[in-house]
Amino acid sequence: MPETPEQLYARASESLRMPPVEEWDTFPFDGDMHPRTLRSPLAREIPRAGEGGIDCRACAALDTAYIWTSDNWRLCTTVNPTGLPVILILEPRAHYGEPGDLPDDLASELGLLQARIERAVRTIPEVGRVHVCRWGDGSEHLHWWFLARPARFPQLIGSFAAIWDDILPPLPEGTWRENLALVSSALERPPVSPPPQLERSKSRPSREPSPPAPHRAARPRRSGTR
Ligand SMILES: [Zn+2]
Repeated sequence: MPETPEQLYARASESLRMPPVEEWDTFPFDGDMHPRTLRSPLAREIPRAGEGGIDCRACAALDTAYIWTSDNWRLCTTVNPTGLPVILILEPRAHYGEPGDLPDDLASELGLLQARIERAVRTIPEVGRVHVCRWGDGSEHLHWWFLARPARFPQLIGSFAAIWDDILPPLPEGTWRENLALVSSALERPPVSPPPQLERSKSRPSREPSPPAPHRAARPRRSGTR
């Protein structure tokens, strides 16, 4: 029997745990911390912006608001420079609410596009990784985040990069625009996939560890406008 929100609240509200964030290299904050009080569940989910396609910002936006478009997809960026080298948002032209709502042909295109855009973002020098994320609690119109994180800062790895974006001062406008120009230029090139990678050696070091706990919060602020 699945647990209801009320049952979760009754079980957890007095038993919240405090993870050892002071030991996490990627945790962005110092100082005494404690979990916030868990508030009781609502009667229903809060409606997302643009629910049902009504007053949907993405549906109403013109192509000129995007840095790249195709017949079925559009790619935009933030209004202003970000703390991370670049942040992009990919949306289908048509209004869909969940990834599982996409028809198979669009879902197939999406897989190719995610790879193509991730490659394009990696053309920015000194980008260590491109996080491809979907939260979707702010706006209903389906959208994926592409978060470029700076290279060679072990503190910035993993899911807390989304928080570090709000902590790092924004890039100088000119640098940010140069980064966007590199991405646009890469996307204008024919969408040829790279040659297959050689089979990985068994002696290859294991992948870098994930942060101790996933950060599952919705993107702060911007998700409310996307
Ligand atoms: Zn929409």
